[in-house]
Amino acid sequence: MKAIHEMGVAELGRALGARHVTSVEATKHLLARLAKHPQLGVLLASDAPLALAQARDADARRAAGEAGALLGVPLAHKDIFVTRVLPTTAGSKILAGYLSPFDATVVARLGDAGVVTLGKLNCDEFAMGSSNENSAYGPVHNPWDTTRVPGGSSGGSAAAVAARLMPAATGTDTGGSIRQPASFTGITGIKPTYGVCSRYGMIAFASSLDQAGPLARSAEDCALLLGAMSGFDERDSTSAPRPPQDFHAEMLAARPGAGASQPLTGLRIGLPKEFFPAALAADVNGAVRAALGEFERLGATLVDVSLPRTELSIPVYYIIAPAEASSNLSRFDGVRYGHRAARYTDLEDMYKKSRSEGFGAEAKRRIMIGTYVLSHGYYDAYYLQAQKLRRMIADDFQACFRECDVIAGPVAPTVAWKLGAKSDDPVASYLADIFTLPASLAGLPGMSLPVGFGEASMPVGLQLIGNYFREGTLLHAAHAFQLATDWHARAPAGY
Ligand code: GLN
Repeated sequence: MKAIHEMGVAELGRALGARHVTSVEATKHLLARLAKHPQLGVLLASDAPLALAQARDADARRAAGEAGALLGVPLAHKDIFVTRVLPTTAGSKILAGYLSPFDATVVARLGDAGVVTLGKLNCDEFAMGSSNENSAYGPVHNPWDTTRVPGGSSGGSAAAVAARLMPAATGTDTGGSIRQPASFTGITGIKPTYGVCSRYGMIAFASSLDQAGPLARSAEDCALLLGAMSGFDERDSTSAPRPPQDFHAEMLAARPGAGASQPLTGLRIGLPKEFFPAALAADVNGAVRAALGEFERLGATLVDVSLPRTELSIPVYYIIAPAEASSNLSRFDGVRYGHRAARYTDLEDMYKKSRSEGFGAEAKRRIMIGTYVLSHGYYDAYYLQAQKLRRMIADDFQACFRECDVIAGPVAPTVAWKLGAKSDDPVASYLADIFTLPASLAGLPGMSLPVGFGEASMPVGLQLIGNYFREGTLLHAAHAFQLATDWHARAPAGY
């Protein structure tokens, strides 16, 4: 039998079902592995007795005859999901030590499925960032090269899964924070259609964009997790009122043209020319093109499409997201949550000092930008204009989906960069989000899967974008690719 940390979610679930291993054994093994790798900076909170109690409970449920792919599987949550027993910080000093009175819906649903919570994972402050360097609790290091960033904002989740410290982790994606760290660390992640996972208990950054999703080692593992995480929730007014979806069954289901000899016969993959600009790094382009060749061998056909407003998605996102953030972050006032300044003169001074001390530089920058673009006299010129363009970007996708079933391209213009390389230049970091922002603005599902290695032997991811609620199509295509290749099975040296 493989070592426990070498098993993905599906595999570990099968080993638990066959009684080859118990959840208590798996939990102990992974807690020890987490303790052995503090240098990655992934863990913000953990409670071993609690995790072991959950594991014992899962083992008892199995002994009583209960089955379930996730029953007894240990994982950890991005520290943006509130949890009742473990503290939640959202990577911010302003929430240091905060204990929520309730669990986020995603956390509760995974708990119902029997998942064991190993702890809470580092992330950029309020999920603002692309490198995990905006966390008040230190950066996360990429296990493929610890002098490089793991991507962000779900950097702790990505690094933990890539380093085989856990089979999977939850993440959130507002403008790329599941897809880009998955790409930078050689793992698989999916951001579903906006509304598929409940945002209840997910600390809000930009409410019209935020979505939860899994980071794992394969499309199959993502499908299993997404099935448990998703579904209508009356406590989130933007939750999609749809019947529960079995993403694993959808992943296995045949595409149009089934019966043909190739698994992906009939699948039309659209390549937006704007996703392959001259400035795209040659290593990324090479790995992505090679993967597209593999998709063709699997029966898919490639078609040229266009997303003409791709470049505009950067200014549009960096107006809308800060606008919503400035409003969402107003609740951190030193009264209701978290940090309050020790000394102040009056109420206004207390707000000012608490917020000045509690928020980091990027959160402050976004609060200022957001307040500016929403203020009287600028609202029409910036915010309203951005909203109109957002609609046009979404319409551009619908024009593409008349020609193709999924859209493919790179996740990011380069492989993971060196720690510190962009930390003094926020705009450089914003520009690197160019390929993930369009799907976020449109509310479409997107996933990242590893397809090779580039500069300095760093992983390269391929992005697949589907139409609304077509997660099954993405997972099916990614699963077929992963059955034919082994990029997703590669682990960084030493892990
Ligand atoms: N990098 C983007 C930002 O900084 C996206 C972050 C995210 O998806 N949470 O806003």
